[in-house]
Formats: sequence, C-alpha cells, structure tokens
Amino acid sequence: MILITHMLAGAIIGSKIPSYPGIILLALISHYILDKIPHWDYFPENISKLNAKGWIFFAFEVFADLLAGLILIWLILGLNQDPIRILTGTFFGILTDGLMILNIVTREKNKFLKWAQNIHSKVHFQNYKKTPLSQRLFWETFIAGLLIALAFII
Ligand SMILES: [Zn+2]
Repeated sequence: MILITHMLAGAIIGSKIPSYPGIILLALISHYILDKIPHWDYFPENISKLNAKGWIFFAFEVFADLLAGLILIWLILGLNQDPIRILTGTFFGILTDGLMILNIVTREKNKFLKWAQNIHSKVHFQNYKKTPLSQRLFWETFIAGLLIALAFII
C-alpha cells in the first residue's frame, strides 16, 4: 500500500493506544495486514535496474506520499492530541517500507535488512499481474478512505 495508508493506520493506533510498546507493536503489525490486501502502489517493478532519473522520480513520489500523509494526519488528528504518540505510530507504520528501501540501496548486504525484507515479501500481496488494476485501485482507495473516516470518528 502507499505510505499515506500505512501512516494513517499508524497515526490512528498512536492516537488511541496509551503505551508506547503497544503503539510500536500494533503499528508494525498493521503494516503487514494492510500489505496483505490486494492493492495498487507506485513501487517500481524493477527497482534494482532504475537509472538516476528513475530514482529521482521514485524519490519524488515517496516524498509527495510522505508529505501528503503528514498533512492529512495533522489536519485530522494533529491539533488536540499527543503528537509524539501519533508520530511514533506513523513512523512504525511505515518502518517496514523504509527498511525495504534501505535493503535495496545497500544491495541486500545487511543481514537484518534482508531478513526484514524476507518477512515483508512473504506477507505482501503478490498477484499484481493477475489482479485487475481497477480492483487494486478500488482497494487502495477504499482502505485509505476507511482509515480517513476512522480517524475522524474515533
Ligand atoms: Zn510494505
């Protein structure tokens, strides 16, 4: 899923769970649950073969995704709640994807990053080619919309 979705889930967890270990654990688990759902994302198919221009474009997409997520969280949850707890949930909600990027950048030479990515890959939705784009876009939008609604309600 795109970062906005993972960030929203983490932020909601951070706003509702009183303990930091609880926030960290649930935010990490939420990442795997969301990635299991069929979805659309902008992650390049052959990231290891990207040229400099491809990396710059990908970095811009990640930056825009992060910025949009932070603005959305600030607008919905930010003003009257504990920002440290919300940001902790947000951070641990996307940590798995951050470790995945680090694993690629370090060319899979770090054992911990490789181990973390193995778990991520095993849990992650795989059938991109077999699942129609319309269906994947629907689920991505539906889950993000559901999380936005949830952030307003709770
Ligand atoms: Zn992921």
